[in-house]
Amino acid sequence: MKTRKIVEGFEPYDYPEGSRRKYIRLDFGENTIGCSRKVIDRLRRVTAEDLSIYPEYNIVGKLASFLKIKPGNIILTNGSDDALRLMMEAYLDKDEEVILMEPSFSMFEFYAKLREAKVKKVLLGKDLGFDKNASLEAISDKTKAVVLCNPNNPTGTVIPRDAIIEIIEKTKGVVIVDEAYFDFYGESVIDLIETYDNLAVTRTFSKQAGLAGVRIGAAISNEKVISNLKKISSPFAVNALACIALDAALDDWKFVSDYVSSVKESKKFLFNEFRRLKIKTYPTQANFFIADFGEDVKKICSILKRQGILIRDRSSMPLLSGCARITIGTLEESKRLVSEIEKIQKLLNLDTLLFDMDGVLVDVSRSYRVAIKKTAESFMEKSVSFEEIQKYKERGGLNNDWDCTIAILKDNNVSVSKEEVIRRFDKIYLGGEIDNEKLIIDIEILERLSNRFRLGIVTGRPKRDADYTIDKFCLRRFFSTIITLDDVREGKPDPEGILIAKKALKGKNAIYIGDTVDDINAAKSAGIPCIGIVPPSPSENTKGLLGSAGAAIVLESINEICEVLR
Ligand SMILES: *Cc1c(COP(=O)(O)O)cnc(C)c1O
Repeated sequence: MKTRKIVEGFEPYDYPEGSRRKYIRLDFGENTIGCSRKVIDRLRRVTAEDLSIYPEYNIVGKLASFLKIKPGNIILTNGSDDALRLMMEAYLDKDEEVILMEPSFSMFEFYAKLREAKVKKVLLGKDLGFDKNASLEAISDKTKAVVLCNPNNPTGTVIPRDAIIEIIEKTKGVVIVDEAYFDFYGESVIDLIETYDNLAVTRTFSKQAGLAGVRIGAAISNEKVISNLKKISSPFAVNALACIALDAALDDWKFVSDYVSSVKESKKFLFNEFRRLKIKTYPTQANFFIADFGEDVKKICSILKRQGILIRDRSSMPLLSGCARITIGTLEESKRLVSEIEKIQKLLNLDTLLFDMDGVLVDVSRSYRVAIKKTAESFMEKSVSFEEIQKYKERGGLNNDWDCTIAILKDNNVSVSKEEVIRRFDKIYLGGEIDNEKLIIDIEILERLSNRFRLGIVTGRPKRDADYTIDKFCLRRFFSTIITLDDVREGKPDPEGILIAKKALKGKNAIYIGDTVDDINAAKSAGIPCIGIVPPSPSENTKGLLGSAGAAIVLESINEICEVLR
């Protein structure tokens, strides 16, 4: 069996990997708050009959009057993608010429190629604006179709009405105007469908109305064109639930207008903030915009994803190298976005990394933690669990393990002198537990980091214990500065150690990398950001604690560090 050659050459549509549900979704131009409640209420009342009958399209009349056109001027489609496909199937033959803008919505080219049409592309201007002269020049007697996207996806730029008219008048073939983002822009050419016999407009309810999941759009044109599309449309292509959802959405269009207004407010905020962060943006009339992150674009997209925000890397598109497309959501979402980008900018500007030792470089869950447990238990009848110890650590203020042991004893009404605790603790720790420590960080990663950054250690360990472990794992060569408990008057959360190390390394932009709230507080007091690392054997809320304490970013392991640095 032979497949059509053109089909052999295609790849399946590249669906996003995994679920997007837990993210702030600024990657697909969708409505970020979901559809109107009234749509959901209506769908809740769906009956078995609604589902058992093939769909009935009474909604067409309602949509027509909503758009101030006649029912004969419209065909409902399974998303506006389906409308584009119908138009190309009705009006493009093999080897016929279609003119597309570049960069633009990728489905135009896909459907044209499926027709085996000849695709001719007109590049947008350097400002990503529509190039009227180049577009008019491209049109010839051979032109069977021109597709205009207004506002254009992914650039958000628009085509003035008079330019569209000039193109319609010059083109003998059909001019398809994709108005997917009409509601955010407000200008349409639907009113011209009777004036020109070669104009068709596509609309969708995916973006503004929050109905991307039900797949409903429309093609709008003169009756002749629409009757042609009806001949080739699959029967009942639009499902009954989509019709019900659209019906309810049209009844509550105020919801959409309010959403559009909030997006516009949010857009103002974003453009001001991006200017402040010195990230170039391009003017937009849609609910998305292009931001130029330069060489950092991939890194920024991937770190944002880690932080729960999706944006779309468009850097492989013509004119868009270094660029991402960002959907404009609510003001709240925009604030989150800006604060995450600001943090990422700091991460990408670092020249100095200061490491905490325990829980970050070295796994002490079988050494110090065992020493705390055994020391405390040696003074009491009851046993102490590692979970309890972790809780003490997460409380903050107990960075020093002697102090942590004393706090546990105190809470259990055991009173012993500090000297006695230290004596027993050291006997247990140095007497064997210290050799149960494991290196967490891969040497290869340390190697890479030491080639790019100035590295230091700021640890709450006494020098003796720090030296032992550093030499055991041959780490000394990576770190130009090692600050221990012996070098400071005050341990963490006092910033003294971090400040001394930072000064010694003479870096401009330093960050502290730690696994406890005390580490984060010490970094804060030192005036530098902190990367939180979830230590081995964490509690179920360690990650959240580090985040809310103010870590710029929280990593599951120190070995993920390269993913968030330049
Ligand atoms: C999203 C989008 C579409 C597709 O809309 P559906 O109705 O969901 O198929 C069409 N055109 C443009 C320009 C879009 O951005």
